[in-house]
Amino acid sequence: PVPVVAVVGRPNVGKSTLVNRIIGRRQAVVEDVPGVTRDRVPYDAQWNGRRFTVVDTGGWEPDAKDRAAAIAAQAEIAVQTADVVVFVVDVTVGATDVDEAAVRMLRRSHKPVILVANKADNQNLELEAVSLWSLGLGEPHTISALHGRGSGDLLDDILSNL
Ligand code: GDP
Ligand code: MG
Repeated sequence: PVPVVAVVGRPNVGKSTLVNRIIGRRQAVVEDVPGVTRDRVPYDAQWNGRRFTVVDTGGWEPDAKDRAAAIAAQAEIAVQTADVVVFVVDVTVGATDVDEAAVRMLRRSHKPVILVANKADNQNLELEAVSLWSLGLGEPHTISALHGRGSGDLLDDILSNL
């Protein structure tokens, strides 16, 4: 079977932008409005000749109720059915309470988790990522999904975990 990579995190951190970067086309819907991706959306991807499925998800929101809770539940299913989880944090915001709650859930899943510090568009923002060590997920991978910065190294690391 083709290995599965789930991309999870809060709304608006750039998950869909990263998914588009990984699949090399603009298919995942990117929006300035949070909460656009509702379900789990799988895409075929390839890197260095290896095929895998990358799953875009909606985001985890604070005190999610009703629709937001359903979206969060879908993201949890994506985690349970993934071989590797890519957990995306917005480096311009830093780690929030919701990010910390997500980390506790990810720990319970016992899946390999790769921490991504997105929106590191420049060197100053790259340096901000050191604060994300506090999440306890190891070294943050600084990337700019929008500009492509760091995405090749990230893909190498994803593949080495598959
Ligand atoms: P999602 O809700 O996590 O899927 O986030 P989206 O991919 O829809 O992106 C939310 C917003 O963040 C959009 O306006 C994106 O253009 C923007 N964004 C995503 N990645 C980056 C990045 O690396 N740098 C910057 N500056 N903006 C980004
Ligand atoms: Mg999205």
